[in-house]
Amino acid sequence: MRAKKLNKIDKEASSIINQELKRQQNELELIASENYVSLAVLEAMSSVLTNKYSEGYPEKRYYGGNQVVDKIENLAIKRAKKLFNAEHVNVQPLSGSPANLAVYMALLEPNDKVLGLKLDHGGHLSHGHQVNFSGRLYDFVQYGVNEKSGLIDMDEVRKIALKEKPKMIIAGFSAYSREIDWEAFQSIANEIKAYTFADIAHIAGLVAAGLLKNPVEIFDVVTTTTHKTLRGPRGAIIMCKEKYAKQIDRAVFPGIQGGPHDHVTAAKAVCFKEALSLEFKYYSKQVIKNAKALVEGFKNLDYQVVSGGTDNHLFILDLRNKNISGREAEKTLEKVGISVSRSTIPNDPSPPFNPSGLRLGSAALTTRDLKEKEMQEVVELIDQSLKEKDNDEKLNKIKDRVKFLCKKFPLAY
Ligand SMILES: *Cc1c(COP(=O)(O)O)cnc(C)c1O
Repeated sequence: MRAKKLNKIDKEASSIINQELKRQQNELELIASENYVSLAVLEAMSSVLTNKYSEGYPEKRYYGGNQVVDKIENLAIKRAKKLFNAEHVNVQPLSGSPANLAVYMALLEPNDKVLGLKLDHGGHLSHGHQVNFSGRLYDFVQYGVNEKSGLIDMDEVRKIALKEKPKMIIAGFSAYSREIDWEAFQSIANEIKAYTFADIAHIAGLVAAGLLKNPVEIFDVVTTTTHKTLRGPRGAIIMCKEKYAKQIDRAVFPGIQGGPHDHVTAAKAVCFKEALSLEFKYYSKQVIKNAKALVEGFKNLDYQVVSGGTDNHLFILDLRNKNISGREAEKTLEKVGISVSRSTIPNDPSPPFNPSGLRLGSAALTTRDLKEKEMQEVVELIDQSLKEKDNDEKLNKIKDRVKFLCKKFPLAY
């Protein structure tokens, strides 16, 4: 039993996993937070490192037998430091939300005031939403984007910051498509002596490639997931100035986590090596080009784009002039094999469960090697699907075209 492969031992689970592989092979992935990892990352994730317990940090573990695990964790740390020019990195956070929890725990006391971006303007649940631990434990006040421009208004951020005097200011978003002025955030924080915390979960790959400004050199603390534009395993890291290193490490363990997932740490190390390569720079450049091509294509078909465009890998379509809700659009596209996620638009008149927008991203399609020309085709496929939302026959034809496009640009597995 010990040495048998999954498909010999558990046909049921194996068949379900295979169905998911087929789905990924045959569908166009435009969910902005998803990507396809390399075979090397997959291999590291399925390694025997999953067997090990290694609570603590390299050379300071609470279990024996960690000589080898120390090497892999040190390797991941070394590469992450180089990639982001960071003074200190903790590679153990299990995912983005727990990484953020660790940052709050390291620097704040319960009920401390924090300033973050409103969720329906592009923020994240873990930036103070009342259903999330962050909103329950801390006193969040929020800034939004300008109603007309869709951009963060730094004068407004400053005004709120001076009035509310938060102990921490958060910058970083799930659904904001524009370059962020990290320096402006830092200088506001300096005025009120607040901590600065950047959450670059979405854009980390583009920052690593040098295409977007890097907050790690400016901010006190920066978190990122490793599975979005960075194209690594599901997980996260925390980067900070050396003076906060102890607090951050203690908040991750023993503060909120037990043993790190060493197999994922290994996969993070592999992902960082890939992200340090020239090839990754080209990839990331194409990600932005493809996002811009999608935006242009949609605008030509009279779609409204929040903030009018994108500087990164994602953008939000405002569907109010298209007579379809975000949820209906998501469901319709699911029928033809195009994955997207519905999204709120700033000051959305509709509820979050059925919002007015759609969030699209180019990172996954770019991994499959689709370029600007294919983006035009993707726009047409989406537009036609939304127009034919009640015609299953037409939708089936579009589904065949989606499959054909996927076959032309296969995954690495
Ligand atoms: C995706 C995301 C997270 C959360 O990551 P999980 O790994 O899903 O917990 C946190 N912050 C931002 C800004 C994100 O986009």
